[in-house]
Amino acid sequence: GAYEHRTNISGRDEIAQIGEEFNSLTDRLQTTETLRRRFVSDASHELKTPLAAIRLLTDSILQTDQMDMETVRDFVTDIGSEAERLSRITEDLLRLTRLDSDLLDAPETVEVAPVLEQVMRMMSLLAQKKGTELTYRMEENCRVSATKGEVHQVIYNLTDNAVKYSGKNGKVRVELRHEDHDVVLTVADNGPGIPEEDLPKVFERFYRVDKARSRAAGGTGLGLSIVQDTVKKRGGMVSAANRPNGGAVFTVRWPEAEGGDHS
Ligand code: ADP
Repeated sequence: GAYEHRTNISGRDEIAQIGEEFNSLTDRLQTTETLRRRFVSDASHELKTPLAAIRLLTDSILQTDQMDMETVRDFVTDIGSEAERLSRITEDLLRLTRLDSDLLDAPETVEVAPVLEQVMRMMSLLAQKKGTELTYRMEENCRVSATKGEVHQVIYNLTDNAVKYSGKNGKVRVELRHEDHDVVLTVADNGPGIPEEDLPKVFERFYRVDKARSRAAGGTGLGLSIVQDTVKKRGGMVSAANRPNGGAVFTVRWPEAEGGDHS
């Protein structure tokens, strides 16, 4: 590997301690490097699939002497969706890269309720189209230290998943409330839930329980890692669980911004 410079300093003194710390740092660098490589390789693979499809579709159009207009149209429509997929992936990758770097926008005190309402207005159109029942309940004065864009992104990604995966006769419930000194957001659905062994992994980049299903629904496998990184950057956390009567529930906790009151 690239980091084989471990030391053999030993003894019961400070130098031994330095040696140990050096080795632990080396191990951590090695892990980071391995993760980085895997990320680049996964990302390349994700980009390759739609690109290959686009090439195949264009080749078919170009190499066929007689193709009726309707078929051409179908193929071009497919090319369009693959291109859309590519832009979704690149957008998500850029977002993650930005979160990885320390180029973070200065936080403001964000009142979550109006942002939640804005996302709900947009999502209810999508939900209606799918026949999903989307309801929400919120407390006022839930303030977090972040940017509006981040709060929007977190609520959007979680609700989008809930609507996407809850399927027919879906029910999605979004709640915003105070709890101790946190602002808590829960997004619950009545879909298939997540197999217990996959629960800790769903926040990993490109991880999907069902690849085909995620792809068909237009997923990139990055939505939840974006949520996790976005929330963590502001000192919060997100977790996934299954509901006792079926369906998944995601819980986000942000530390409440200074000056928030519980009235
Ligand atoms: P994707 O673009 O595939 O939705 P995400 O990072 O948003 O990627 O989610 C990762 C995976 O977690 C999904 O592919 C899906 O398998 C699972 N998942 C996320 N939300 C839900 C949900 N509400 N119900 C069931 N499975 C979910």
